[in-house]
Amino acid sequence: MSSIPSSYRASSFVGAKKIKIIDKPTPQPGAGQLLIKVGANALCGSERPQFFDGTTVTPGHEATGVVVAAGPGTRTAIGTAGAVFLMDFCGTCRSCKLGFTHQCLQKRGDMGFNKDGGYGQYELVHESIFFPAPGFTATEATLLLDIMGTGGHAIERCQLMRPDIESVLVLGAGPIGLGVLAMAKIILGQQVKVYLTDIVPYRLELAEKLGGLPINVAKGSIKDGLKAHGTDAADIAVDTSGKQAAREEGHRALAQRGSLICVGHGEGIALKISPDIIAPERSVVGSEYFRFDEMPANLRRLTAHRSYLSQIITHRFGLDEIQKAFDLFFAGETGKVMIEQ
Ligand SMILES: [Zn+2]
Ligand SMILES: [Zn+2]
Repeated sequence: MSSIPSSYRASSFVGAKKIKIIDKPTPQPGAGQLLIKVGANALCGSERPQFFDGTTVTPGHEATGVVVAAGPGTRTAIGTAGAVFLMDFCGTCRSCKLGFTHQCLQKRGDMGFNKDGGYGQYELVHESIFFPAPGFTATEATLLLDIMGTGGHAIERCQLMRPDIESVLVLGAGPIGLGVLAMAKIILGQQVKVYLTDIVPYRLELAEKLGGLPINVAKGSIKDGLKAHGTDAADIAVDTSGKQAAREEGHRALAQRGSLICVGHGEGIALKISPDIIAPERSVVGSEYFRFDEMPANLRRLTAHRSYLSQIITHRFGLDEIQKAFDLFFAGETGKVMIEQ
């Protein structure tokens, strides 16, 4: 560990939308652990509470980097580049044994939420949650996490609900919504129509660039928007907005046998059992992050669709500019925003 400094620079979210850069002692990897030199970490809407209210840990759960030190019992070579999975899963519980590593029953923690994450120069991780991704830049490799991982898992949940998907309605064209759009096109096929709702023209333009059909809900209802695109209903809706009004309107815009997949945390939903659920056999399903074992397929998809997916990343900042990055991101006129080191 001779070239690794004894302390490193990390961001401290102090609350009231203020971020400072502080020094932290560099941790040494213990048994089964790796020390990562962080190369990039993407900003996420789920960091809103940390940005507004502050936190004692270093946030950042969409980190990629290079292994610079490895603890006893590990097999990953120094110099390996890869991405860090958010959930520090146990690997041995009933869920993990079946591959449901995002539903671990004895999770050691969540990186960037209750364990130090990627908005610092280094991050200490268990080897089990480090996914090697050679041949990509640190920034490109972040696409494997919330964009492709969360987006792709949501599409898998859609496929579980109905096998004959011809159209998808994505509620909210923020980064997760754009990820769902991209993964719908990649996994289900280019012929599948993907409608996206939002009120921010910048996001709707970006969605259109990625092959989506925009619906500006500041100007009319979802039904009106679908009609303008030549249809009355969507086979599947995926909510990334977390808004009750969007969920309910999206559910009502579903065809028979349609399903609403909820990805965005936040508000609730109120439905009528007979007209909304029983008669049309519609459902409401949750989709939380993704399984670690979905990453190899997504790595192959990233290789095949590298430049298409990279369009989702619209802004890049250094660690010193993290305040500026967050101010811009939560103003709403961005795709994915990156902290690069
Ligand atoms: Zn996230
Ligand atoms: Zn587990």
